[in-house]
Amino acid sequence: MAGVLALAGWRLLPEGLPQDIAYNVIGLASVAAILAGVRIHRPPRAAMWLWFAAGQFVWVIGDLVYEFYEYVLQQEPYPSIADAFYLSAYPMMVVGLLTLLRARRIGSGFIDAAIVGTSLGLVLWIFVIQPIAVDSDASLLERLIGVAYPAGDAMLLFLLAGLFTDGRKGSPSSRLLGVGVLLLLASDISFAVLSLYSDGNSAVLDAAFLFSYLFWAAAALHPSMSARGEGRPEGRMTRRRLVLLACTSLFAPGLLFLPTVDASRRYAIGACGIVLFLLVLVRLSGSVAMVQRQSLQLADLAMRDDLTSLANRRRFEQEVRAVLVPTKRPHVLLLDLNGFKEVNDDLGHAVGDGLLIVLAERLRNAVHPDSLVARMGGDEFAVLLPNARPGDLPVVVERLTGTLHEAIRVGEHELLISASIGSADGTGLDDPFEVLRRADIAMYAAKKQGVRHREYDPGLDERASAEAQLGAELRAALDAQQFRLFFQPIVTLPEGRMVAVETLVRWQHPERGLVGPVDFIPVAERNGLIVELGAWILRSACFQAAAWRDEYGDRAPERVSVNASARQLGQQGFVDLVREALAASGLPASALAIEVTETAVFEGGRALEALHQIRALGVRIALDDFGTGHSSLGLLQSVPVDILKVDKSFIDNITASGRHAVIATSLIDIGNGLGLTTVAEGVETAEQADELYRLGYRLAQGYHFGRPVPDPMMRLTLPITAR
Ligand code: C2E
Ligand code: MG
Ligand code: MG
Repeated sequence: MAGVLALAGWRLLPEGLPQDIAYNVIGLASVAAILAGVRIHRPPRAAMWLWFAAGQFVWVIGDLVYEFYEYVLQQEPYPSIADAFYLSAYPMMVVGLLTLLRARRIGSGFIDAAIVGTSLGLVLWIFVIQPIAVDSDASLLERLIGVAYPAGDAMLLFLLAGLFTDGRKGSPSSRLLGVGVLLLLASDISFAVLSLYSDGNSAVLDAAFLFSYLFWAAAALHPSMSARGEGRPEGRMTRRRLVLLACTSLFAPGLLFLPTVDASRRYAIGACGIVLFLLVLVRLSGSVAMVQRQSLQLADLAMRDDLTSLANRRRFEQEVRAVLVPTKRPHVLLLDLNGFKEVNDDLGHAVGDGLLIVLAERLRNAVHPDSLVARMGGDEFAVLLPNARPGDLPVVVERLTGTLHEAIRVGEHELLISASIGSADGTGLDDPFEVLRRADIAMYAAKKQGVRHREYDPGLDERASAEAQLGAELRAALDAQQFRLFFQPIVTLPEGRMVAVETLVRWQHPERGLVGPVDFIPVAERNGLIVELGAWILRSACFQAAAWRDEYGDRAPERVSVNASARQLGQQGFVDLVREALAASGLPASALAIEVTETAVFEGGRALEALHQIRALGVRIALDDFGTGHSSLGLLQSVPVDILKVDKSFIDNITASGRHAVIATSLIDIGNGLGLTTVAEGVETAEQADELYRLGYRLAQGYHFGRPVPDPMMRLTLPITAR
């Protein structure tokens, strides 16, 4: 701002001595400004600024010397001592710019600078340097000095081109600097051209020189001057750059069309044309190499899993295809983690991701370097043994499961994880997808059977396709309303009075007749139909129970229980479903019980959360098949339970004194101790019923009291004699 004011002041001063003195003061002030900037901002490349300051300083000295000639000695000598000062400014500026460029480390930008510099240098040569050099009126010294100026300018021009073509957005300071040099250059060249072709007034040029001083000073004072060269220099061929390079390299041939350009200058033009051509060639080959490098990088990225940086599915399929040759015995192993979803749900995705990263690393270390480990997506990994010898497979499986079973630390969490592994032998096959499909089916079977590893065999295929078939039939059956609800009484001991019923679903199959739930519930659970089927069962059971209450009043069962599978409990919206079924049917919440197995809630997570919410509604929770799971007693601490249903297996041998009787005894003790309602399941004989009563059981369920039937109220309305 001060600079602009000073400049305006300079313009208002009368021409001659006062103006010249002001001119010198502004020049010196800008030298001082640069030095001050270096002191204040302490830039990383102080030397560069000092060189600029020195260059400008000797320039002003040159002016002073000249003015001494002009005003004191009253002469206008050429050449003079002043020229020595002026000329010595060039090397200083050049060194300064070189320092700047070196700090910016220009790569392919250097070639671009050479292209621009060569073209502009040629123009300078044709119109300025050459005419001065051949000026026959002048002495040798005059000619030498006359050429030295534009030659210096050409050097600056070349370096400046480097500054502007390095493809980076500089800091405000370096942009100001660039403009400063550019102005200096432009006015210097114009001065040379003007004094060569006319004797025009140079006031405008003086202003331009002053402006360039101002820009230097501003550049040095701007806070960004101490910033390091930011951004990476990229030799990217942007559109702008392409246009710039094309235009400048067209200068040389373009000059040929000018009538003033005579034969003597054609050599210079031709030489430059060749240089430019070579430079462009080098530049293009650089660009091509870069494009090739980038496309390789891209291809690599497309074949890699982002999270774990293992190979991804695409890459894995490619590799499998590559080893499916007659001479090799490739094996594919698919690993699917158990319980990963719960980790993700309970501890968050960051922990889940951390777990996957650790596992990926472990798997990679667990296999031979020849084997390829890939992440197929989600929590599924794959291993390719390109050429397995007999006996290799069990060893690999052992190593993989071993490494998985060690606890994994993620942040503050200590996680235990297991996996189901399916493997397939690719020998003799030619389709990678078939090998993967077989490994997948084997993995699925391992999961279903709860074993660590299964190898593919054709029998698995049949079972899988039978299951797929059944799954589709179930869907159709639900639409065709082929499902029926049966109810089994839960009675008091010793009276055998029905106080509750358990809802048990049946499939009224058009050909096969009545199909039991064990034959279709697991399939429905796996294909997801259980969610819809379960919703229908829950609603229907609530409506039925409400109808009995309306019809039979006090004689109706106090409670109806409905089984819910793990998949249902884990489903978002299950709690809403229960709430809605109660509201729609008008059944009080206390008249409903939800039966869950230990395994459904063992993993915690959303299923457990759902149970708490359902219980908060007033619905009872029954733990089904109690005693058969692996954590029965532990679960009683975390799971909200009202009713224990002691599994049939403990009741079966209760009369033959042995371990089962002991367990049945402890289970009723536990139930009573915790204030829970305990029900004995699967009571088939009167002896069992008596023994249970003796042990303290007061509720029982089983064929002895009544099988599951469509209408358990019938036994109430049957004539007394028929009982
Ligand atoms: P659960 O919940 O433990 O049901 C008791 C099973 O034992 C029933 O088999 C019942 O008929 C049978 N049972 C009862 N008393 C006796 C007896 O004295 N002797 C013998 N041998 N069996 C007896 P069912 O109806 O075949 O159901 C089997 C399992 O299917 C049920 O076990 C339950 O886990 C599941 N299930 C049944 N209905 C549904 C349902 O609506 N939804 C869901 N998610 N699962 C259901
Ligand atoms: Mg049950
Ligand atoms: Mg049961």
